[in-house]
Amino acid sequence: MIHASNFINGTLCAAHSGDMLEVINPATGEVMGTIPDSAPADIDRAATAASNAFAMWSALAPAQRAAPLHKLADLIQRDAKDFARVECDNTGKPLELALGVDIARAISNLRFFADAIAHNDTEKFQNETCVSNVHRRALGVAACISPWNLPLYLLTWKIAPALAAGCAVVAKPSEVTPLTAHMLAQRVREAGFPSGVLNIIHGRGHTAGAALVSHPRVACITFTGGTVTGQSIASAAAPTLKRVALELGGKNPAIIFADATTSDQLNATLDGVIRSIFTNQGQVCHCSSRILIQRAAWDTFVPALVKRAQALRVGDPLDASTHIGSLVSQQHLQKVTNAVELAVSEGARILCGGARVGADELPQRVRAGAFFAPTLLDNLAPTCRTNQEEIFGPVATLIPFDDEAAAIQIANGTQFGLSASVWTADSARADRVSTKLDCGTVWINSWMVRDLRAPIGGMRASGLGREGGNEALRFFAEPVTVVHNK
Ligand code: NAD
Repeated sequence: MIHASNFINGTLCAAHSGDMLEVINPATGEVMGTIPDSAPADIDRAATAASNAFAMWSALAPAQRAAPLHKLADLIQRDAKDFARVECDNTGKPLELALGVDIARAISNLRFFADAIAHNDTEKFQNETCVSNVHRRALGVAACISPWNLPLYLLTWKIAPALAAGCAVVAKPSEVTPLTAHMLAQRVREAGFPSGVLNIIHGRGHTAGAALVSHPRVACITFTGGTVTGQSIASAAAPTLKRVALELGGKNPAIIFADATTSDQLNATLDGVIRSIFTNQGQVCHCSSRILIQRAAWDTFVPALVKRAQALRVGDPLDASTHIGSLVSQQHLQKVTNAVELAVSEGARILCGGARVGADELPQRVRAGAFFAPTLLDNLAPTCRTNQEEIFGPVATLIPFDDEAAAIQIANGTQFGLSASVWTADSARADRVSTKLDCGTVWINSWMVRDLRAPIGGMRASGLGREGGNEALRFFAEPVTVVHNK
């Protein structure tokens, strides 16, 4: 059992009320920990501590801010196996994935922004009349709110640029998967951060989260989570004109052209598409959930894709041979189940999966878990609810198209605009199609490979602003232009 604490002004502490929330291991159904159920008074203490630490922290040289970020990365690296085990237990994701992706990426996030800030120099513009120097001044207290699917990965993706840029931070991890954030908090002092610079508070969204986003000492909010929550945060931030960045949901298309399914291409395309649908049980915001398949390739590609999906091993997240672990909670399992029932009521044909995995098909240790079978559906119109609403589970629909124009129209035909992948052997076509897709990232014959310097984020209902590289550092700073006469 892990009894997590808030981390305020350099000290681990309980909520003022003493109230706590339980944290569940979704693969076993067991209670694995508790967190403080923080209230506005706790948020106020954290925001005040951050506000008091801000002037000192933002005045440090970039190298001085980089040092504790690197040290924190070292400490996570030292204890990576412990972090991965807790991430695995708390989310239900396979242990290998937790270690190889979540924890590895948390370490690189901290290192990347520690290095990036050192290279982030003052810009200078010169013309015949004047010289303009653009200084970036940290905004103040940054609220960093993260979701449950990639807990430490997305928390560090926010706190690292905020701290590097000179902001003081109040972070609120998801109440569903908060435990690696607590482990991080336990190492913040050892990493050498001064008190108050990084505060981590736990609690529910509509209480602790809402109090944080409306707190007068918070200057900016970076949020990753659902679209509806993002909308409510944007309106809560409006009266005080806080700067807001929102990374929200998606309904991402994978567009498969027939030339990506020839005998020499087929396996690579299948590998990539299967990974893009089912990684992390389909609970990655960039997962493909609408698979657009050129009609000429339908008869080859669909049976092969279904066969691959059926071959995925659903099982104990601790077992190295497991591909698909547990969904994050019983509530989420119910949501995914309801979504598939809705799809069937809309006329969907279930090609594989379609239901939770029964206890008798699971190893003893995880029989009470929230496991859902990898599911592929077809026979649905692009405009039906199943093809318009985010499901966020191991479920994708297959949709035929005839030509490029039709593929682009279907791909762009939702309120979302997070990402897409295009699978083709024709690079000219890849360029043509990618420039017409309304989304923040387009992967060509790949998925989720990236350079941390490149911007990432969504258009339309998928978000506001971008994370990554300079985009992230600039979000946390106010540019101030100082002009000298020539
Ligand atoms: P969520 O919106 O329910 O919660 C996200 C966070 O916001 C949690 O920490 C929660 O406690 C907090 N919160 C909830 N209500 C709040 C409020 N009123 N004020 C302040 N904070 C509040 O999302 P979730 O269910 O944890 O995550 C799944 C969603 O996140 C999916 O829609 C997924 O697409 C999205 N997501 C997007 C990205 C991206 O980069 N675009 C990445 C990962 C997840």
